[in-house]
Amino acid sequence: MKLRILGASGAEFPGKNPPGFLLDDSVLLDAGTIGAVLNEKEQYAIRHILLTHAHLDHIRSIPSLADNIILKNKDHSVLVQGIEPVLAALKDNLLNDVVWPDFTRIPSEEDAVLRLAPIAVGKPFAVNSYSVTAYTVNHSVPAVGFVVEDSEGRRLLYTGDTGPTDDIWKATEKPIHAAIIEVSMPDSMEEMAIMTGHLTARLLGAEIKKMKNVPEKIYITHPKPQYIDTIMDEIAGLGLDHVMLLEGGEVLEI
Ligand SMILES: [Zn+2]
Ligand SMILES: [Zn+2]
Repeated sequence: MKLRILGASGAEFPGKNPPGFLLDDSVLLDAGTIGAVLNEKEQYAIRHILLTHAHLDHIRSIPSLADNIILKNKDHSVLVQGIEPVLAALKDNLLNDVVWPDFTRIPSEEDAVLRLAPIAVGKPFAVNSYSVTAYTVNHSVPAVGFVVEDSEGRRLLYTGDTGPTDDIWKATEKPIHAAIIEVSMPDSMEEMAIMTGHLTARLLGAEIKKMKNVPEKIYITHPKPQYIDTIMDEIAGLGLDHVMLLEGGEVLEI
């Protein structure tokens, strides 16, 4: 699996884009960043979007992608998948013909640019040649993380946004080759992190203890850039091997 990091930041600053992870050029995990880094041809290659939750920093690039598509090709469509409350939030609050046109009905309901398809937690579903399973995580809104397994058995885990959680770690009963885990705040903000459904380095350490098999590689996403040095020092203090900070622009081979 080739994973291109479009953005992996917990806030927006120049060069720091919200989460978007592009798998083998065509499957996007979260849609916080698309057009800020992908050219037109690359945007057209996206055929699937998997959403962890409906917070704006994870969905905000979908409207612009739809607009770019309709301008050139009315026959093109992208399948957007997420749990029911996430799709409902997307449709009610973003693609609602007020904030943005409802691209789930443009150019027509049958041939819409965006097709929304609900997924069930814990039930594997196929996306291209991958098998994907959603697991509940603990955030301030309904949210899941994903485990993506390719045809060779390579497995990628992505938490999305989460505070201390349990369900998704069931997936570590089998080996995980790469895990993208959020750490948003420094240890000094633990109370706020727990209240808002995020992790700190110390909380990450506690989550790792819950795992049956520690992933081969752990990549950190969603840090607040204002605290990045402190967060990375605190993660280094955990003394774990193979933990790295993700940066937009990187390409990982998993
Ligand atoms: Zn969130
Ligand atoms: Zn977020």
